[in-house]
Amino acid sequence: MRAGYVFAWEDDPGVPHSSANAPVARPKPKLSHSSMAIKLNEQEPNRWHDRQYALRYWSAMDAIHRTISWVDDALPTPIGWNEHIGAELEVDLNAGIEFNAKYIRETRGIFFYRGTVGKQTIYSAESPDIVAHEVGHAVLDSLNPRLWQVADPQGAAFHEAFGDVSAMFSAIRIPEFCASVIYETEGDLKKSSRLSRMGEQLAWGVRVSRPSRVDQECLRNLANEFYYIDPMSLPPRAPASQLCAEEHSFSRVFSAAILDALAEIFSVHTVEDLQSAAKSLAKVLVTAAITTPLSTRYFADLAAHMLAADLAIYGQAHGSALRAAFGNRGILSRTEASELTPEVLADGSEEIGKVLKSKPIDKPELKTMSLSGGRYGLLGDFCVSVPSDLPRFVSASPPESHDEERPQRAAKFFVDSLFSQGKVNVSKDLLTDATAAYRHVETSTHEITDANGREYELRRIEFECPGST
Ligand SMILES: [Zn+2]
Repeated sequence: MRAGYVFAWEDDPGVPHSSANAPVARPKPKLSHSSMAIKLNEQEPNRWHDRQYALRYWSAMDAIHRTISWVDDALPTPIGWNEHIGAELEVDLNAGIEFNAKYIRETRGIFFYRGTVGKQTIYSAESPDIVAHEVGHAVLDSLNPRLWQVADPQGAAFHEAFGDVSAMFSAIRIPEFCASVIYETEGDLKKSSRLSRMGEQLAWGVRVSRPSRVDQECLRNLANEFYYIDPMSLPPRAPASQLCAEEHSFSRVFSAAILDALAEIFSVHTVEDLQSAAKSLAKVLVTAAITTPLSTRYFADLAAHMLAADLAIYGQAHGSALRAAFGNRGILSRTEASELTPEVLADGSEEIGKVLKSKPIDKPELKTMSLSGGRYGLLGDFCVSVPSDLPRFVSASPPESHDEERPQRAAKFFVDSLFSQGKVNVSKDLLTDATAAYRHVETSTHEITDANGREYELRRIEFECPGST
């Protein structure tokens, strides 16, 4: 190995014992100069460590470095982590036994786990897809902290989509990876490829105990056929082959539209063209993620904000690609897409202009509502944050429907879904014998506590992979 280089995976180790992917030589990542600093719990590999330790360590470091690099390129000035995290994001590459990876605000970090199938131990930290996804959650929590708490299926699903898109942008930083994807897809990025498939190795591990929780070849494939439908009309859980309102499942509609947009923008079929298409799309996506209000039309309004950001930054250079991508996935209706003229999109130019000049923007507090604990067999009521903003560019209700209570309905639907999936850890003061089912949840993404000492509220604890124990 040349001095200054290390071996790392580009995107994912792939299914165990397949030789599809191989580690490559990468420049030794330097993480010390970034405004997004990390605190690592492990030692830099030395000659006493085995090869797998070194590969895991450097694959994770390289993935973190590439993720922070794409984010830095997408913003006018570097930003730090969410204020709850502080100056350094903790990174634990070996946090325990579970087929999973998590971003947890309270413990200020990203946590990667390991699981064993037969004699094969899988470390989620060894997959750059998973690492870039988790860093993506931390980045989005800095860009738009209000998404953390909102009880809305689309807001939560966007967090997951952003993680997968982060993995995609992070892999595109490697020119050799781009070349292999262009070869594999013959230039048509809408085809399933290493770029579109997320977390092949971890999916292999999850599949043993939860075969219908993951896609056939990976955790999620962004080259898919899912079409937008109001998530409130979907079931809270379904096998991975179908769309449901659960955040990882529903995220696939938005992340697929981003892959479609990338495929449309990428026209010359060179490595440089792919990297430049990804950079433009990243800038537009990040600007929209900061500025889009949290409404129950979040996906549609986010798509419209991407059009507005593209108008402000690139003079609509990618307008037709974005319209085709969001229109063909049903995220924007045909009528909405045609009504979003440059005059209408200019309406958001003030906030977008502030983002481009790195100026802060004010956001109102989200409204809260009280939900009846009795509905879930609990002894007391609790509060949830409602997606109460009005959308900026699209109507507050989907076309041809009118529902003034839609934000409240979305919040209630979201909480019902969480309970259906066993994802809520309920404070024991609220439990009776009748609610024993809630005493043992598999992994809880949310909790109901009286943390502020006044009233019970639903709080998010973490974003996780759709893992299994
Ligand atoms: Zn996630």
